[in-house]
Amino acid sequence: MSIYLSIVIPAYNEAPVLDQFLPSLYCALAELPDQQEIVIVDDGSRDNLREVFQAHLAACPAHIALRLVQLSRNFGKEAALSAGLANTQGRIVAMMDADGQHPISVLQEMLALNQQGIDMVVGVQANRSHESWLARSLKRGFYHFMQDTHRYEIKPNAGDFRLMSRKVVDALLALPERQRFMKGLYAWVGFKTVYVPFEAHERQEGESKFNYASLLELALIGITSFS
Ligand code: UDP
Ligand code: MG
Repeated sequence: MSIYLSIVIPAYNEAPVLDQFLPSLYCALAELPDQQEIVIVDDGSRDNLREVFQAHLAACPAHIALRLVQLSRNFGKEAALSAGLANTQGRIVAMMDADGQHPISVLQEMLALNQQGIDMVVGVQANRSHESWLARSLKRGFYHFMQDTHRYEIKPNAGDFRLMSRKVVDALLALPERQRFMKGLYAWVGFKTVYVPFEAHERQEGESKFNYASLLELALIGITSFS
């Protein structure tokens, strides 16, 4: 079976939003060649994600292989993404959040750029106005500090919403880091990269899983491994 596109979705207590998000993804994937794959990574959720997954497994279209990777506890988004990437087979791999904030129209834009030979297409979030002044200022300061500039670039507001050719995924998976600061690893592996600005949708339900403490932890991992 030849899989054209794999989509990795990390999910931590996101059952209701994922339930809403998946059908819109099925529609978008219907137009693509060959088979598609959606890899949901359950990052130690304590809700009914597994039941939602089973219901979708029974109902999802034949051209989509729906898969669940279950982690034994909550490891955090970075580890969940790596586990998801390691379980993909597609010639192209995209990563999207479970909460519907990443627009499907932008995924289609990313696919078109990949067709033009761009190995890494990266979403850059243009609207951060929903975040507090403090959160925005701290993130700006962090990105400013992280710039190494002449060898690789960790671009501000370029997150995990991105699409990669198989060779990029294989390069990422070959890196042996245990503490995985993904924004650093993406930059580290190189490859032809294009940035696509996008407006993130409002979260469909629930709350952000990141607080100041978890962002600080992530920032420290980034600083100790990439600055
Ligand atoms: N996430 C995860 N593990 C975590 C925290 C978050 O897998 O420990 C997932 C979450 O379920 C979502 C994505 O990472 O699919 C982004 O998280 P969130 O929406 O909370 O972050 P924000 O959009 O506020 O940056
Ligand atoms: Mg979100």
